[in-house]
Amino acid sequence: MSRTFKQLETKVVRAGQPDPRVLGAVVPPIFQSAMFEYAGESSYHDLKYIRLNNTPTHAALGAKLAAIEGGEAAVVAASGMAAISTTLLTVLTPGDRLLAQDCLYGGTHDLLTRELAELGIETDFIDADAPDSWERRLRPRTRAIYVETLTNPLLQLADLEAVASFARSHGLVSLVDNTFATPVNFRPLEHGFDLVLHSATKFLNGHSDIVAGAVIGSVAWIQRITHRLNHLGGSLDPHACFLFDRGLKTLVLRVRHQNQSARLIARGLEQHPAIARVNYPGLESHPRHERAARLFGGFGGMLSFELTGGAPAADRFIAHTTLPIVAPSLGGAETLLTRPALTSHLGLSPEARHKAGISDGLIRMSVGLESTDEILEDLVQALDAVGTAVAESTT
Ligand code: PLP
Repeated sequence: MSRTFKQLETKVVRAGQPDPRVLGAVVPPIFQSAMFEYAGESSYHDLKYIRLNNTPTHAALGAKLAAIEGGEAAVVAASGMAAISTTLLTVLTPGDRLLAQDCLYGGTHDLLTRELAELGIETDFIDADAPDSWERRLRPRTRAIYVETLTNPLLQLADLEAVASFARSHGLVSLVDNTFATPVNFRPLEHGFDLVLHSATKFLNGHSDIVAGAVIGSVAWIQRITHRLNHLGGSLDPHACFLFDRGLKTLVLRVRHQNQSARLIARGLEQHPAIARVNYPGLESHPRHERAARLFGGFGGMLSFELTGGAPAADRFIAHTTLPIVAPSLGGAETLLTRPALTSHLGLSPEARHKAGISDGLIRMSVGLESTDEILEDLVQALDAVGTAVAESTT
């Protein structure tokens, strides 16, 4: 039984560690063994085997994640999508319906509208900021409600407290993808959600060197989800568990830096004449800034913005930047830029993107751990260059 710790800074380093230490090792060894000697286990799910998600490396990581998110238990999976799909396939069975936010991460949106729909699980999309409209969307077999703490790529903020209380009063399971906010800034279970999901590929691991997912919740839910994961097979390899755990140790330090850096960068961008709009919950101009300030410990490392010159100006701007790396994904040490219409939301039709408010020129930025001044300086010189190019072409 490992110790409990009070503060998040301590939990990310020490929670879930084997007690006593294995041969005194300060950093627990990686149990890179596919199977373990039979020790009289009476249930299939208790046999020690990597796919059954129960090696000592998995157990330690699960216990740490549960402590960080304030849940009873947690399980890790081979990707964020493995965590999301396995969880939905545990909570929902054919004929069931899901209420889901209308601007989810593209992969999740596609999973709901394609694979789950093919299995007879239908989704009714809702405006997650308009609680009065949700009751009308309920059907006899609506079983769950699914949102993201901050949406990708527009950084919209749902009425999260209303989602949790609506779920409770209507007997629904509430699920939230907390990838963008991270438990440093928001812990959904403390606000009444049933299950928290993560693409740990992003901030939780924080180094862009693994793909992983996680689900955190009650012992009863996590046991059911783990049993389904054991059969679906999306288990995380122990070496990736080790990298995940190593990344978690610096989660608080990284995210606090990213909170601060992204806020300064968002403010700097907002003041530039070549910028039309910046989406960042830490800006007073964000429509739900007050809610974010009340619920969140920090506003996160993600922002998105549009240039006055639209998609052609976005292309020129990106070509003039020298420090950020142009790549999809997010939450790592390197600052990344991407145009969601060409990457994360390419799977959506142009009409669906337009309806969701994702313009072709929208740029998403994941603020890394480099110097804030140096990133901002580079962004401003690229914006100046776009402005100069526009001025030259009109003279
Ligand atoms: N959830 C969010 C908010 C994401 O941004 C992503 C990936 O970008 C996922 C889930 C899927 O995670 P993964 O790529 O680890 O499967």
